[in-house]
Amino acid sequence: MPRAKAAPMRSYVPGYELLEPRNLSDALERMAGQPGDWKPFAGGTDLMVLLEAGKLLHRKFLSLWKLPELRGIAVTPEHVTLNALTTYSEIRRHDVLRREFPLLCQAAAETGSIATQNRGTLGGNIANASPAADSPPALLVYDGELELVSAAGARWVPYRGFWKAYKQIDLRGEELICAIRLPRSQSFSKHFYRKVGTRKAQAISKVCFAGAARMDGGRITEVRIALGSVSPTVLRAAETEKILRGEKLEPPLLHAAQQALAREIAPIDDIRSTARYRLRVAQNLLAEFCESLAG
Ligand SMILES: Cc1cc2nc3c(=O)[nH]c(=O)nc-3n(C[C@H](O)[C@H](O)[C@H](O)COP(=O)(O)OP(=O)(O)OC[C@H]3O[C@@H](n4cnc5c(N)ncnc54)[C@H](O)[C@@H]3O)c2cc1C
Repeated sequence: MPRAKAAPMRSYVPGYELLEPRNLSDALERMAGQPGDWKPFAGGTDLMVLLEAGKLLHRKFLSLWKLPELRGIAVTPEHVTLNALTTYSEIRRHDVLRREFPLLCQAAAETGSIATQNRGTLGGNIANASPAADSPPALLVYDGELELVSAAGARWVPYRGFWKAYKQIDLRGEELICAIRLPRSQSFSKHFYRKVGTRKAQAISKVCFAGAARMDGGRITEVRIALGSVSPTVLRAAETEKILRGEKLEPPLLHAAQQALAREIAPIDDIRSTARYRLRVAQNLLAEFCESLAG
């Protein structure tokens, strides 16, 4: 039988430059010298897909993979700080993250396959700015902050204000995401994460829901809700949270919260799903989250 021919790569690989900087300062100096020209290359799990598809527009890449300054997870009494090259596998294995930030660990566990989890990084997931990415809802619920560095210095920004519009984030051409910091003082008693895709594994989200709450005698004293794949950016459902915060869980409350959620999100029809399906699933997941609070 004749062997099937392998599909050719759609990019001309020698047309690209991939440079290994000596250290973080070297990387930042190069980026400052030609802002926007040098594109960071971390695990490459998003970039290699673009390369294969012939859609990789940049020509010059800086490999971050061997920069020790961007590796590791640090725990202090106030924060857990994940450096940008932290992989999903490292997140899944980390005891403090598993105990205090289970939504992030669950998002990591539901990202791609083990191979993708070993190579894909949290910094890459954030910088890629896909509204369907799976870790951003967890980072929004936990009020994450980002450290952005350039040759001129560092700045911390709340992740919540980092998204500007579809695929647009507050990251300058000469900046790198250096770290993601999660405050440890939040002590939620309930955590709820659901990713709905075509399959259980290796699927891009149709809807992704992350929620956390503190309860006191059946009353919701604090609640955070974030969703992916239902608007141009991953979003915190602030209006829905406001309806639930301070209230006892009763059926009219859930109905009001579901109506608020419908006003806050803006799902679309696309190749993976329909706006109608996404709205219904998002409202159902809100109901499941509220049921989990009552339990
Ligand atoms: C088979 C497969 C399955 C996948 N499944 C999922 C999934 O289920 N859920 C999901 O959310 N994603 C999924 N992804 C997407 C991808 O794995 C993640 O987005 C991953 O976290 C990207 O990280 P990376 O290090 O590989 O990024 P890269 O591909 O190296 O970079 C991605 C983008 O981020 C930029 N970048 C990287 N690091 C930095 C930094 N420190 N500072 C500034 N910019 C930076 C790059 O320039 C590029 O624009 C999948 C990908 C594949 C190939």
